Parts: sequence; C-alpha cells; structure tokens
Amino acid sequence: MKSDTLKIILAEPRGFCAGVDRAIEIVERALAKFGRPVYVRHEIVHNRHVVNALRNKGAIFVEELSEVPEDFPVVFSAHGVPKSVISEATNRRMIQIDATCPLVKKVHVDAARHKNNGKVVVLIGHSGHPEIIGTLGQLAEGDIILVENKEQAETIQIPGTTELSFITQTTLSVDDTKEIISVLQTRFPQIEGPRQEDICYATTNRQAAVKALANHCDALVVIGAPNSSNSRRLAEVGSAKTGMRAILIQEASELEQSWLDGVKTLGVTAGASAPEILVQELINWLSLRYTVDIETVRTATEEINFSLPTLLKT
Ligand code: SF4
Repeated sequence: MKSDTLKIILAEPRGFCAGVDRAIEIVERALAKFGRPVYVRHEIVHNRHVVNALRNKGAIFVEELSEVPEDFPVVFSAHGVPKSVISEATNRRMIQIDATCPLVKKVHVDAARHKNNGKVVVLIGHSGHPEIIGTLGQLAEGDIILVENKEQAETIQIPGTTELSFITQTTLSVDDTKEIISVLQTRFPQIEGPRQEDICYATTNRQAAVKALANHCDALVVIGAPNSSNSRRLAEVGSAKTGMRAILIQEASELEQSWLDGVKTLGVTAGASAPEILVQELINWLSLRYTVDIETVRTATEEINFSLPTLLKT
C-alpha cells in the first residue's frame, strides 16, 4: 500500500553527455566493423549498466594493453590515455580506436601547447582518476604538477620557474575549482590558463540544474557510479548548496526506503555516464511506494554532438 505523497523534481539536463554517447557508439561501431571481440581499455564510461550491455554485445574490458592479444582492435575509453599507451599500441601495430572525449583531448592539446611555450603546467584534478592519469601522461614528469584541492594550492612549491600555466580535469566541482584557481592566481599572478576552466559543458550544466532544484528539495538522489567523478560531484554540490541530504546510487534497488523518511520533495538527477533507463527505474520504484507528483526543472538545453573517428565513419 502506498504510504504517502512524494513530489519528485527531475533535474534537466541530466544523464548522458555527448562524449559518453560518442564513446558508446564507437564501441558499437567497432563491433559492427571488426566483429567480436573488440577490446576496450578501461570501462568505456563509468557505468556498469553500459559496460555490461557492451560486454553482452562482444566487448572485452581490460585494464592494460598487455591483456589484449595481437590482431584485435582496442578502444581507448572516454577518459583518455597517457601517451605511453598510444606508443605501446603503435609499436605493437594494433588497430587503435580512440574514444577519448574531444573535450578531454582539448585539455591534452593545451598541456602540450603550454609545455611548448616553455611553461610548467599545474593540473587541477583528482589523483588516480583515469582522466588525470591520461592527462598527466601527456607530458614528462616534472613538466606537469597535480594540485588536488585548495590546501595544496596554498602550499605547493614550484621551484625554479616563473613560467606557469594551469589546466583542469573536466568533471570537477565548478565552485571548488574556482576557489583553487583563485588561490593559484593570487600566489602566482603570472599563471596562464583557459578563460574559465576546463570543466566541460555537461558537468557545468548538470551541477547548475542541481543547484536550481536544491532549494526546493528535502533530499537528492543522484544515479551514477561511485567511481564517476561528475556523479560524485553532483551529490556534493547538492548537499553543499543547502545542506540537504544527498545520496549517490547505481540503481534504484540500492535505495533504502528508510532513507526517504520525512522527505516530501525529492530531487533526482543522473551523472553524465548514467543512462536514462536507470532514472526511469528509480521513478517506477518510487511510484510503487508513494503517490508521486513529478516536475522537471530545466536550466539548459544541450544540442552538442561530437563526430566519430574517421575509421568508423563508413
Ligand atoms: S562528462 Fe564532459 S568531458 Fe566527460 S565525456 Fe562527457 S562531455 Fe566529455
């Protein structure tokens, strides 16, 4: 029996971005062109639903190139790879298909440009995330320095140079990153960087939508993977804005009904790698337990598409 009425406010935009759409299509087209199996280095995007669906179609996910036998195509994930991985694949004459998001690629290009201009590069991002491993791997050690948070920006010592630039991970908290950049600009007034930061449109738009609904909600559910940077930031942004409770779950079955005790209005969003079907399953789950009233708060319209690698266009 339904116990109560629950108002659900859906954030819009939410879910898949153009980089994730492209990465999934790349694996599907590679399977169609080369047949099974196609190897994918790292989860193509951070979502087990997506990974399992592609696995069922014939993709094999590995962490290292050494796990890929000769003569099979290999796809690099949307997060990007260090240059050493490209070199290894080239030396082994592998068929390489690069699903790195073009917005991550832009950061790689900027890192190389800054280095060519004689600058040391400060990379703002989270250690260990595959995008950061890929971006750090664009330059030699010593040419690029990772700063993870405001405290590190306040204390980092960069000896022997006044020539500095910064780049950022694409999926950070917009507000936290502004603070880190501000600290760096105060300490190193000559530091050069992008006009804003490298946080991508999808991350920015999803965080803005969560901020817009936060004032009207008692709690927020974010659908996304625990290793998805942009999904984790959505949960943090939601609670930072109003102090409301926020939870990140991979799918509806992970939600305990007791977590919703006292909640009258629930915000719902999804990270850039989470398919819409998981949001709809959550709504179904809630509809079985509550009389739901659904509303959408839209803060942006997205019409971005990225082209496919030439190898897969025909
Ligand atoms: S979240 Fe941003 S950077 Fe990552 S794949 Fe999507 S558009 Fe590209």
